[in-house]
Amino acid sequence: MIKVERIESPTKLTVEKRKELTEEYLMTSNNVWNQDYIKKALLKMSNNKCIFCECRLGEESKYIEVEHFHPKSLYPEEVVDWENLLPICKRCNGLKRDHDTKLVPIINPTLIDPREHLTIKKYRFFSKDELGKKTIGVLSLNDSDRLFLPRVTIGNAISDILDGLGKWVGKIKDNSTIEDQNELICKIRNLLKSCQPDAEYSTICSYALFEDDNYYGIKDFMQEIKIWNDDLVNLEKNCLKYSLIEYKNPKLIV
Ligand SMILES: [Zn+2]
Repeated sequence: MIKVERIESPTKLTVEKRKELTEEYLMTSNNVWNQDYIKKALLKMSNNKCIFCECRLGEESKYIEVEHFHPKSLYPEEVVDWENLLPICKRCNGLKRDHDTKLVPIINPTLIDPREHLTIKKYRFFSKDELGKKTIGVLSLNDSDRLFLPRVTIGNAISDILDGLGKWVGKIKDNSTIEDQNELICKIRNLLKSCQPDAEYSTICSYALFEDDNYYGIKDFMQEIKIWNDDLVNLEKNCLKYSLIEYKNPKLIV
């Protein structure tokens, strides 16, 4: 889960339209929020990801559902209130159901930075306070089958790549060619790109990357031979802006 900036309300969702759709909902309970222009704007806002678990939406069995942060069953007057709508996956929607977010608040990532309330260790989310605890609980953010095991698989894939790169750097260290150096830049850039806020499961990917000692060994080498370029500096900085890693690793100060 990462902080997401809410974008402008879709132009078609005018004040009159909201009023009209809200009245229709109050009279008929129709799915008035189920509009393509609303879904499109929500997907754009979250880079096509579920706002809570960061799975990619729009793929098989992961179509976008429109989430009412304050449930429509309890707060029907907010049924098409743009500030109340979030893009969500079927799994998270099924868990959150009619949880009363006004009575027992959880994190709304468009309003609250999850980093203030959550941290991650060994691919599990941990809470820093009551808000974090409720968020983990209501959304089952450590659900073994659907979330935890895929996280470990992603983390292991990143560790394998770093392990291979670390060994390769050990071999070419004193004698690297321009081709070697360019290949290394590309591979590290790709890893950092997989941790950017628009990437699926970016929270997990950045955790796996910044937890791995090989990453720092490779970075040290690249800085030594002066190929840790501005592009990599900026990509790393951007990951760290969203990362849930708790400690302040001095090697991450750029
Ligand atoms: Zn989800």
